[in-house]
Order: sequence, then structure tokens, then C-alpha cells
Amino acid sequence: MAEYRHLYGPVPSRRLGRSLGVDMVPMKTCCLDCIYCQLGPTTVHTDERREYVRVDEVLDELARWLEAGGSADYLTFAGCGEPTLNSELGDAMARARELTDIPVCLLTNGALLWREGVRSAAMQADLMMPSLDAGTEETLQRINRPVEGITLERYIEGLRATVEGFRGEVWLEVMLVAGVNDSDAELEAIDRAIERIHPAQVQINTVVRPAPAGDARRVDNATLVRARVILGPNATVISSAWERGAPDSAEHDAAEVLALVGRRPVTLQDVAHGLGMHPNEASKYLAHLVGEGDLRTEQRDGQLFYVRA
Ligand code: SF4
Repeated sequence: MAEYRHLYGPVPSRRLGRSLGVDMVPMKTCCLDCIYCQLGPTTVHTDERREYVRVDEVLDELARWLEAGGSADYLTFAGCGEPTLNSELGDAMARARELTDIPVCLLTNGALLWREGVRSAAMQADLMMPSLDAGTEETLQRINRPVEGITLERYIEGLRATVEGFRGEVWLEVMLVAGVNDSDAELEAIDRAIERIHPAQVQINTVVRPAPAGDARRVDNATLVRARVILGPNATVISSAWERGAPDSAEHDAAEVLALVGRRPVTLQDVAHGLGMHPNEASKYLAHLVGEGDLRTEQRDGQLFYVRA
């Protein structure tokens, strides 16, 4: 890809298959300055929309890549920052869709979707993957450090209006940082926001690699399960978020499993990961609790969930 300045990949993506990245803003232009950002501190902290990267250049490169036989499962519009800051994003995605049948995904922080112009540009995508990491204003300021003018209410309302008007699916990512947005109260507030937004999927993630700036830390497996339980059956934990090497021989009794299955349904995998036990062992406890009448099972979307009886 050395001859391309604005395209990268295709890279294998857990969620998108083979994804060709299309870079719409230069390093690092963003309306947020997230404490977990893998790109380091935001150097151009702005909500000003302009043609940071020339769209004609991007489209020329894409046409060249397609002519050379390029193939991918998705064209993913993203960048070294926030792609919706590029004022020509909507035009770029619409023109990309004329060039190829490869579906277009927009990877965005979603913080500017309350602005009509940003939202209508974003609607040119086939799939949208925004994020929301906070359920309270205080946590939004702490974790995402937005430019002035981005409030939690605007953020949530923008996401809600996007889902309502969008022909494609919206997959909402929630990035968890230990000690910042992983309390029950914060997760419940995020859950209330999600209920307003109504995304097709909620994907729970955590800080897998240390961020270049700051000391954002990952949450452990039990917290991922707790988040999954609170955020509801539409929520899944991204597979790479699980901590590796959790002890699988630890002693856990049925009471712990029962406590885990608190208010919301969980899967066998949730229990196994959350308590660091082998799935066979988790399955044994779950079967015991079902037999005792403490839990019952439910099929949802082809998956088996355990719920409090
Ligand atoms: S929105 Fe994305 S690019 Fe911007 S600071 Fe947060 S993680 Fe980094």
C-alpha cells in the first residue's frame, strides 16, 4: 500500500472481515481527546468541519486500488481522528458507493451527529459504528474530553436521531476504562441512553493496549460480564476484550454464578469468561441452578440465555 496516502489495508477486522481503511483527517484531528486513545493526545482539538483531506485525492486512490483488483468486505471511513470533521465526507462516501459495490462503513465517535449537516453526511454509509462511553455529563468530560459545545444530551440525541433516520444498522461501541466508567451507576446510566438510542447492536470493549498518553487501564473479565448483564441482551463483549490467561481452575461455587446472573440474561460464555472458569465447569453450575429452579433458560436470536427464575 506504499503508493497510497489515504488508504490502508485491507486489514482483518473481527467485526468487519477484511476492511480497507479510508483516512479522512490527518493526525490527530478530533473533537474529543479520549483518555484511552491509541493515537495519543489530540493535537487539533476542534469541531470545525473542513476538507482536511482532499476528497478528489481519496477517490482517485480508491479508483486506482479497485482497478488494480483490490477487494475487501468493507470500505471503512475513519482516519487519524474523527472522520465526520471532513466537510466532504458525505460526498466521499456517496462517490465511493458509485465506484464499487463494497459496502461502506463509517467509524465515528458520533459526538457531532446532533448537527444536521454531520448527520446527513453520515447517512451515506451502509453501516455506522459510533461510540458512547458515558452515561453522565461528568464522565463524558472525564473520559472523552470533548470540545466546548458537545454535551451528553446532544451526543445522545444525535445518536438517537441517527438510528431513527438511518437505512443501515448502527453498532454502538462502549469502551470501558477501569475506575472511570465501570461502576454499576455509570453502566446503568449508559443503559438508559442506549434504550433511547436503540442501536442494532451494542459492542463492549476495553483498553486492550495501554494508551500512549495517560494511564487508562483495562477492566477485568468480571467487569465485562457485569457490563454485558447491565447493558442487556443486545450487548456483546468484543472477543479481543477478554483478558487472556484468567485462571480456569479457580474454585467457584454456584452462589457466585447465581450472583453473576443478577438482573439480566447471560450466556454460558459470559459466565465462563466472567468467573475465569472452563465452560464445562460453568455449564455444570448452570445446569445445577436450572435443576434447583433458581435459573431458567431462554432462546433469543439463536442463543441460549440463563435468567433468574
Ligand atoms: S474519538 Fe477516537 S480518535 Fe478521537 S480521541 Fe477518541 S479514540 Fe482518539
